[in-house]
Amino acid sequence: MDELRLPVLPTTVIGSYPRPRWLREIIRLWRAGRVKEKHLREAFDDAVVAVVRDQEEAGVDIPSDGEQRRDEMVEYFAERIEGFRFYGPVRVWGNAYYRKPAVVGPLKYKGAIVVEEFDFLRRVSYSPVVKVTITGPYTIADWSFNEYYSSKEELAFELARIINRELKALEEAGASYIQIDEPALPTHPDEVEWAVMAVNEALRGVNVKLGMHICYGDYWRIAPYFEELRVSQFALEFANRGFKDLGIAEAIPEDKELGFGVIDVHSRRVESVEEVAAALRKILKILPPQRIYVNPDCGLKLLPRRIAKRKMEVMVKATKIVRGELKGVEGPVLRVP
Ligand SMILES: [Zn+2]
Repeated sequence: MDELRLPVLPTTVIGSYPRPRWLREIIRLWRAGRVKEKHLREAFDDAVVAVVRDQEEAGVDIPSDGEQRRDEMVEYFAERIEGFRFYGPVRVWGNAYYRKPAVVGPLKYKGAIVVEEFDFLRRVSYSPVVKVTITGPYTIADWSFNEYYSSKEELAFELARIINRELKALEEAGASYIQIDEPALPTHPDEVEWAVMAVNEALRGVNVKLGMHICYGDYWRIAPYFEELRVSQFALEFANRGFKDLGIAEAIPEDKELGFGVIDVHSRRVESVEEVAAALRKILKILPPQRIYVNPDCGLKLLPRRIAKRKMEVMVKATKIVRGELKGVEGPVLRVP
């Protein structure tokens, strides 16, 4: 293991990024049987190169692959785990639909789910460290129909076993920074206690930097578990909440970091550099700079691509200004294979 010193207030993304219009067109043609699978795969690779380039141009320190290959964060995993089948699309927010998976038999790990994604990203990335995202076991369980296991809890623990194998496969492949996405975690207060245990089962014995991203819901429901959760970072949204509840940052134990959400992904208005810098100065009154990463609130995928890119540019510019005010402060260290 080598140690990599990051700049203070490292900038990163949460994960998803808008698909280029041409990729959406190729996916449509592939669904209609007019494009071959191998050409679709080539298009996915090219799209990852393009979104990595957007992040490089914006100056993001730790890029993701924009989840270009994933239509949806639960479906993508369910499709790659034995025991799921799909019914028709169900409506989620507004006009968004997704194909809700159903568990119809014993779940089995069929082999690597996102390791190839990681390998490709690392190959085309400008940065020695990249972020890989994994949907957590509780959110997969919560967003699926359970038609096989005796309870949602049992299902979540079965999924934890599978996600644990995937995390170990990623570690083996050389990943150094993995983010577990658990947006459902605060949404059923009566289930949080076992949900946290299930997530911890998924993270057991994994020796890479682990973060957790949660976007909706009341963070105070999760705060009592910040210590217990086996992650060293919580990436949370603040911009969409008007930077109101910064007190939650104080609830993060001293040996863990905050991924500070400074860009509202639900609004097309591009933030000003000054307002983002002001938010950073505010959080620096609460946490020491070594414990803060800078990221958008959530994935950027629902925005038009040019707006997503401009928002990343603003995030990086603001961070650089505030870095300049922190003269001589060293950034965090990351272990890389
Ligand atoms: Zn999110």
